[in-house]
Amino acid sequence: MKKKFETLAVRTRTKKTHEREHSTPLYLTSSFTFDNAEHMRAAFADEVEANIYSRFSNPGVKEFEEKMALLEGTEAAYATATGMAAVFASFMAFLKAGDHILSARAIFGSTHAMLTKYLPKWGIEYSYFDGDNTKDIEKLIRKNTKMLFIESPSNPGLEIFDLEALGKLAKKHQLIYNVDNCFATPYLQQPVKYGADLITHSATKFIDGQGRVLGGVVCGRKELIKEIYLFCRNTGPAMAPFNAWVLSKSLETLAVRMDRHSENAMTLAKHLSQHKEIEKVNYPFLPSHAQYETAKKQMKAGGGVVTFVVKGGYERAKKFMDALEMLSLSANLGDTRSIATHPASSTHAKLSEEERKAAGITAGLIRISVGLEHIDDVIADIENALKKSL
Ligand SMILES: *Cc1c(COP(=O)(O)O)cnc(C)c1O
Repeated sequence: MKKKFETLAVRTRTKKTHEREHSTPLYLTSSFTFDNAEHMRAAFADEVEANIYSRFSNPGVKEFEEKMALLEGTEAAYATATGMAAVFASFMAFLKAGDHILSARAIFGSTHAMLTKYLPKWGIEYSYFDGDNTKDIEKLIRKNTKMLFIESPSNPGLEIFDLEALGKLAKKHQLIYNVDNCFATPYLQQPVKYGADLITHSATKFIDGQGRVLGGVVCGRKELIKEIYLFCRNTGPAMAPFNAWVLSKSLETLAVRMDRHSENAMTLAKHLSQHKEIEKVNYPFLPSHAQYETAKKQMKAGGGVVTFVVKGGYERAKKFMDALEMLSLSANLGDTRSIATHPASSTHAKLSEEERKAAGITAGLIRISVGLEHIDDVIADIENALKKSL
């Protein structure tokens, strides 16, 4: 019988060494040795499986990649130093000058910078679409469109895109369907089921889940991941062995953490939606979410991020942030510790008012990454800060 998600996350590991250790050791080595010149020749010729150099592969990194591939349900995976390195590789391994990429507007800030600032410099065009009406999106497909990119749920707007409908569209037009699955993780949603060709992740977020290391990964079919591997092997954004060791351990607890993150976030979202100091609460599993039905269809639970708009705009939101006693003020998310961010004054401060509006970021928007503290204490801190900031 095929093993289940939780079991694969715990039991997948590299071969034990002669020491028969229970937990995978850390392979802190930059390179590997060979029995003789012939062995070395065969390794470089890809005739035997062998580690050569840790920029190419490392046993601990391979363990993390193998787990990620199993959890996402793909044939292969390649791990990178950061989530941005994974997104960058997923673009650059397949796009060339003259190509066009079609992307949702609701994407991570640095991905937006990549599409608008860097890709055009190298002759790669982009277009954005808003919402997930496939007819409108289809109109934007050109002869030279090569890739369809989305994030669902999106950061920080928590927009949900219909993975199945977009998968069909990508297939019809033979586009590489690239999904940033960072917010959901493979535990809550598996884009491959809907035809995703590439699944990118920032492992820095819920995959580590404890705010310690940076990492990224791209999952997909063997032949696509080979291209990612070759691109990264030659350009250098390899995952550090130490980070891989931490992240592979983290995956062992991903399922239980995501269950609790989602349960806590749902409780907070419900609580805040009845609050008189709050204009709007946004959470994929609240029936008031615009894509609630789609979220329910493709996700196991709503995930660990809730956003809300506090009454009183920019100033009130800043006062609210200052009045928090326990929640951390940080740009990160997906940590055991609950985190509050005010995008308009921090992560998205450099955007024009118009760009912020298009990204769904209003002056009073607060993003909460709901952690693993007792939810009563998280709610109490938020309640107290709402009162104090009046
Ligand atoms: C954080 C994030 C990234 C970038 O990941 P890093 O590990 O910080 O480089 C990409 N996509 C999404 C959705 C993110 O939240």
